[in-house]
Amino acid sequence: MQETQDKSQEARKTVTHWIDGKPFEEPDVDRYGDIFDPATGEVQGRVALASQAVVDAAVSSGEEAFDVWGSTPAPKRVRVFYNFRDLLLRHADELAALITSEHGKTLDDAAGEGVRGRETVEVALSAPTLLKGDFSNQVANGFDTYSLRQPLGVCVGITPFNFPVMIPLYMSAVAIAAGNSFVLKPSEQDPSPSMFLAELWDEAGLPPGVFNVVHGDKVAVDALLDHPRVQATSFIGSTPVARHVYQRGAASGKRVQAFGGAKNHMVVLPDADMDQAADALTSAAYGSAGQRCMAITTAVAVGQAGDELVEKTRERIGALRVGIGSDPESDLGPLIRDRARERVLSYIERGAEAGAELVVDGRAVRVEGHENGFFVGPCLFDHVTPDMELYQDEIFGPVLIVVRVDTFDEALALVKSNRYGNGSAIFTRSGWAARRFQEEATTGTVGINVPIPFPVSFYGFGGWNDSRFGDHNINADAFHFYTKPKVVTARWQRPPAGVDMGFMRSE
Ligand code: NAD
Repeated sequence: MQETQDKSQEARKTVTHWIDGKPFEEPDVDRYGDIFDPATGEVQGRVALASQAVVDAAVSSGEEAFDVWGSTPAPKRVRVFYNFRDLLLRHADELAALITSEHGKTLDDAAGEGVRGRETVEVALSAPTLLKGDFSNQVANGFDTYSLRQPLGVCVGITPFNFPVMIPLYMSAVAIAAGNSFVLKPSEQDPSPSMFLAELWDEAGLPPGVFNVVHGDKVAVDALLDHPRVQATSFIGSTPVARHVYQRGAASGKRVQAFGGAKNHMVVLPDADMDQAADALTSAAYGSAGQRCMAITTAVAVGQAGDELVEKTRERIGALRVGIGSDPESDLGPLIRDRARERVLSYIERGAEAGAELVVDGRAVRVEGHENGFFVGPCLFDHVTPDMELYQDEIFGPVLIVVRVDTFDEALALVKSNRYGNGSAIFTRSGWAARRFQEEATTGTVGINVPIPFPVSFYGFGGWNDSRFGDHNINADAFHFYTKPKVVTARWQRPPAGVDMGFMRSE
């Protein structure tokens, strides 16, 4: 019996770091995190949690690689990206399966995340164009002025569990194309996809040390934030950690962009196509079991919209199938962890106690053969008021709340007073209302008859208010985040120039 247990332990995978173009095993490592299979609730492996020494090794490797990569011509750098993009395409199914096995989301959803990540790699192929500077000829007699954008050095990305491929690609593809080296600290809850990416970068021909992966928890994050040889940090995750990362990183003199949590509102006006609105609401609230930063969590029903919207949404929820991510029939999979499930269940319980009407209760959902999986079925609360915890907190699960208001003005005021500002949406047939919403909504992205206004990769992406700390969006906008501007003024004169004590001027 003992032997069988030992064998099954051995069969479980151990995920370690990736430094200098190869797996890196820390001698005498004594800290590991469990990797669960959310569909079964079982531990499927463990991940090494980095110490300061591992972080030092990754940063040193990045620094050494930067010496060459930072001065490699941009057109030559992006040749690696063509290979990498092809490899991502060729291995798309494997990557999706890996995401599903550790995150739990459906294969279709995982494949979609792969596509969105690949699109940023495609944007990065244009780095030679996107890094072009300006040139002003003859700013004074015989003087020209021009600007350069130069890479920073070692950049760090700290990423959340909910997009273990897309978000690491959002950050690393742009940073690396801009000439930096990169240390990724992915979520310790689903660490394997980042190792797959590292292998693909290596196969694509990226020099060792340009892309490193350090697994870990707060110890690794704080070591990276304090590290004197890290130049910039990008973070995506929950708001309290985003705030911590921003403050601690800035205190040690780094540039930091930190994106936090969300509470995205979808305003539905009475003139909206209610079938279209209910379809959109159901997909946006329950896709990925609500574990998306761009999920719609709050429907704001204006006037008569409320009854019809709730009824049509309830009908659609009835047709959703909760199941394991690898089953093509499943519409939504499990939550990432048992503790995430317990947290969501406790919100539902307290929400019902607080007086909100629980129209659909998904707490009793069971998936046959997977009774220990971390499943929660879709839940719908009506008549939620803004003072309730259900409205104020990010729940990050399949829980949709409906707030009813009398007027468009009240709906807009709700959106504007929310402390988060990732995204918002409006469903209406009125061009006037849509345009007013677009102008006044205090969120970084706005959807007009689109529930998840996730922008395309050649636009930047990022929220407002407590959904973001720092400057610059990710994706295409990050070419500015990951480079330093330099302005050069040059004069080439036939010698001798002679002494000129005047101040350069154009007239
Ligand atoms: P999280 O904040 O718990 O973890 C994010 C990262 O920070 C992980 O790598 C984790 O290891 C690390 N971390 C966790 N606690 C830490 C601490 N105390 N000190 C230092 N580092 C710490 O977030 P999560 O649960 O992995 O992801 C879900 C959250 O991310 C949600 O709030 C969601 O809205 C948000 N999110 C936001 C966006 C966006 O674009 N704004 C996108 C995706 C996810």
